[in-house]
Amino acid sequence: MEIPLSGRPLLHVAACAVLAAGCAHLAAVAPEPIAGAPLARAAATAGWPDAPELPNRAEVTAGQLMIHADFPLAEQHRMVRDLETLRGDVSQRLGLPISDEPVHLYLFENQERYDRFTGRYFPGFPVRRAFFIETDTRLAVFAPWQDRIAEDLRHETTHGYVHAVVPGVPLWLDEGIAEYFELPRVAQGRHADHVAHLTGRLIEGTWRIDIDRLESLRLAGELSQDHYAEAWCWVHWLLHTTPERRKILQEYLADVRRDEKTAPLSARLAHAEGGLVACHAAVRAHVESLAAR
Ligand SMILES: [Zn+2]
Repeated sequence: MEIPLSGRPLLHVAACAVLAAGCAHLAAVAPEPIAGAPLARAAATAGWPDAPELPNRAEVTAGQLMIHADFPLAEQHRMVRDLETLRGDVSQRLGLPISDEPVHLYLFENQERYDRFTGRYFPGFPVRRAFFIETDTRLAVFAPWQDRIAEDLRHETTHGYVHAVVPGVPLWLDEGIAEYFELPRVAQGRHADHVAHLTGRLIEGTWRIDIDRLESLRLAGELSQDHYAEAWCWVHWLLHTTPERRKILQEYLADVRRDEKTAPLSARLAHAEGGLVACHAAVRAHVESLAAR
């Protein structure tokens, strides 16, 4: 989501991880779309970049990441190394260049500190387990230390790596990519929860694959678990079925990087796949094949 920010060009808030135990990214997404402008003003007046409450007891630089934590964090911590590796994985899979623009990670020692900070400096935000924002001067991730911190940081840091080079990436694709990379490397992007969710919805007949609907999403608060799961599915299908599809995604991101008003991904896929009906059928078949494995 990109919101005008009182004189600054943009505030991006990715619709990210939330407080839904076991079920990623659904329950705490705001029931109503986020009111972008008031939210942006609240964030602007809060002055969070200078907040004394920001974690600052330890600072670690790891490649593009500047990690600020409430607690000692070794440079060789497995999670830090994992996030550094992620930078290369995102670049290689998506065909994107590596950027040196810092991505700031603010790690709070517990939920209480994180809740107090976000409540004060980001009032009106939906309750989230962690989140990413982009302003014209900073890419930043905020997260409390908890059991799923590794997954949350892979998700949010992916937003940072992508936005450092493709700030205009569409919301749905931004989330689909982050969902893809939030998994441990060994999973190869296969998101079992999303496969199960989509399969159930398709069997029930309560959901259909529809890239036009995804492309129409403009506000983070509009995304439901169905949207996250489908967005992930498109990314997985593009990256794991044929070299041609992977190339379409890579070329699309490269074009968005140069010009945000470039032709949408749906138009490119319709051209390449013989129409969107065939394309949607192929993605549905992909979900079914993943479920059958
Ligand atoms: Zn996200």
